[in-house]
Amino acid sequence: MEAVTTPIQTKAFIDLEHRFGAFNYHPLPVVLERGEGVYVWDVEGRRYLDFLAAYSAVNQGHCHPRIVQALVTQAQKLTLTSRAFHNNLLGPYEEFICTLFGYERMLPANTGVEACEAAVKLARHWGYRVKKVPENKAAVVFAEGNFWGRSIAAVSASTDPLSYSDFGPFVPEFYIIPYDDLNALEDILKKNSHVVAFMCEPILGEAGVIIPEEGYLRGVREICSRYNVLWIADEVQTGLGRTGRMIACEHEGVKPDILCLGKALSGGVYPVSAVLTSSEVMLTLKPGEHGSTYGGNPLACAVAMEALKVILDEDLCANAAARGEQLRRELVRIDSRRISAVRGKGLMNALVIRPKDGITAWEVCLKMMELGLLAKPTHQHTIRLSPPLCITEDQMAEAARIIREAILSFGD
Ligand code: PLP
Repeated sequence: MEAVTTPIQTKAFIDLEHRFGAFNYHPLPVVLERGEGVYVWDVEGRRYLDFLAAYSAVNQGHCHPRIVQALVTQAQKLTLTSRAFHNNLLGPYEEFICTLFGYERMLPANTGVEACEAAVKLARHWGYRVKKVPENKAAVVFAEGNFWGRSIAAVSASTDPLSYSDFGPFVPEFYIIPYDDLNALEDILKKNSHVVAFMCEPILGEAGVIIPEEGYLRGVREICSRYNVLWIADEVQTGLGRTGRMIACEHEGVKPDILCLGKALSGGVYPVSAVLTSSEVMLTLKPGEHGSTYGGNPLACAVAMEALKVILDEDLCANAAARGEQLRRELVRIDSRRISAVRGKGLMNALVIRPKDGITAWEVCLKMMELGLLAKPTHQHTIRLSPPLCITEDQMAEAARIIREAILSFGD
């Protein structure tokens, strides 16, 4: 295979990271300095289609002018007050997001992992104070392959040895069941009356875009209701238009008890996350029992409101659905034994590479990079294809041509 040469300027930036940074990621050898819509540019001036969109945080497209304007305008006015005082944007933002998603209350946070962790804390609180679970017995059930971040609680729930190895001891009373298995869910709830919540992603993201059977989410809803267990939907990655609906649970017409949002809630300009739930659950929290210095700050509120409005105004859900179909249609047409599967919903897609002659998903990604498209393998063989939702039909056609050329360049 042809070696990918790394230009000098690019190399200098990468060397700096290698010299002073932590090696907790394995990035493609590209150094980006600018973004607009679906495109990003590297320090050498080369343009790429961004088919990762910062792990689905940039759903609205890079540097969306309305979101950037909201950020700049608010940054010049008031950025952070802490929750020691009220600010004039938190209430309007809470009302806006609760109305949009049909919940009674919202708890603001910054990152996805914080939202998910807060959801677990809320469930435990509700368990003790409403469900009346005995002290320190509250159990939470997760699905195999889940990913919700890197905190001690998140890695305690993880089934990926890379995430949890040598980070123990772990949080107790966390249980794992297979994903997309309603019998397993019912079994554990039947056996353990101290379960307060089941948390899952409607589509497993980091595990490789694993889509459950139609009816799984309806089943989860029904079983959790029957056993008086809260269903927490982690829509940090699947949410906000990514799968062709505002949240992925909408595909099955079900509403989780607790909804976690993050990533695209700011369109990629600032970390903003949120937990939405009922008054019954949220009001178990009393002053001092949970908080965040930056959570609910006016800058985040302004950005999140604008980011949500952009998704609605630009009808990005419909575009995600249409462009996703276009992409999968093009991908299944590629006649290559190197592709073992194509799957996805909306613009959350996976291209699974059959490793052959030393060519894995990583080599395919390097080739696509050379040809002007950035994507990243998740685990060993799966390439996630999740561009910004504003991608046009022509841009998608260009992307499909690049992917095809990359795959075919290795022969069959
Ligand atoms: N939940 C899901 C489904 C995710 O995919 C991620 C991140 O990839 C998280 C939670 C954690 O989000 P963050 O990295 O913002 O903490």
